[in-house]
Amino acid sequence: MPGIISGDLILAVAMTEPSAGSDLAGMRTSAVDQGDHYLLNGSKVFISNGLLADVVIVAAKTDPANKHAMGLFLVERGMEGFERGKNLEKLGMKSQDTAELFFNNVKVPKANLLGDAKGGFFYLMNMLAQERLTNACGAVAAAEAALQVTIDYVRERKAFDRPISHFQNTRFKLAEMRTQIDVAQVFVDRCVQDHNQKKLTPEVAAEAKLFTTELLCKVVDEGVQLHGGWGYMWEYPICKMYANARIQRIFAGTSEIMKEIISRGMKL
Ligand SMILES: Cc1cc2nc3c(=O)[nH]c(=O)nc-3n(C[C@H](O)[C@H](O)[C@H](O)COP(=O)(O)OP(=O)(O)OC[C@H]3O[C@@H](n4cnc5c(N)ncnc54)[C@H](O)[C@@H]3O)c2cc1C
Repeated sequence: MPGIISGDLILAVAMTEPSAGSDLAGMRTSAVDQGDHYLLNGSKVFISNGLLADVVIVAAKTDPANKHAMGLFLVERGMEGFERGKNLEKLGMKSQDTAELFFNNVKVPKANLLGDAKGGFFYLMNMLAQERLTNACGAVAAAEAALQVTIDYVRERKAFDRPISHFQNTRFKLAEMRTQIDVAQVFVDRCVQDHNQKKLTPEVAAEAKLFTTELLCKVVDEGVQLHGGWGYMWEYPICKMYANARIQRIFAGTSEIMKEIISRGMKL
């Protein structure tokens, strides 16, 4: 932990597998107790920091009879049987590496098990609310940035002898974005306060992720539209913002899974 916190060690968290993403309990990676160590076998995909990571927290099944029994294992750089695939080509977030990881009879010492060997699912679910709040904070900030670059652009760009900011459609679109981002910011601020007081529920964290990431994608889409063809060019920041935003509705739980979590809490 000290090395991770100081930034000397890079960390990755590996849950997703080629055939199990939203349905985490469907994962196949297994860890078998061999007395003084666990034997880890399986593969993971779409792992952020997968290539750069010095330490990977790997979720693996520990009891074939119980699909929710999984442990979290610290797999370290250089452990025999631990291999990495290539950097996966993505639509956006080009500077972040995303990789496939392979575990072939990796001997993981018992000391590298985090907490209880069957409690990993609970640990992950418990902390995902915090991760989703982080996504929400990032989404509101990114939406604000996208709005600002769009405002700058429409002030400069002229069509029909006037700045495009003078068209009612432009002003109304920007006014809608301004309002929705302000509303989202207030909600996220409240969620941060709740989180600091340990009161943030998984349902409300899911609401925050759902609302803000959907809003971000709407804002970047409108931003590209107001940039016209220039918005489709990489040299304009709104283009990168558009490409980077799309994953926000998918990772850390898709928008559909957020709706599942929220509706479960409504006791329908
Ligand atoms: C760039 C990037 C970085 C990532 N980083 C990490 C990482 O660091 N660690 C990690 O473990 N994972 C990571 N992921 C994986 C990410 O969390 C998963 O892609 C995501 O959870 C969705 O899983 P999936 O891709 O298998 O899609 P699927 O689960 O196959 O979903 C496909 C579609 O089906 C829908 N769906 C699934 N179940 C339901 C349901 N019950 N009801 C309604 N609709 C449903 C989904 O909403 C989606 O629209 C990353 C992914 C990407 C692309």
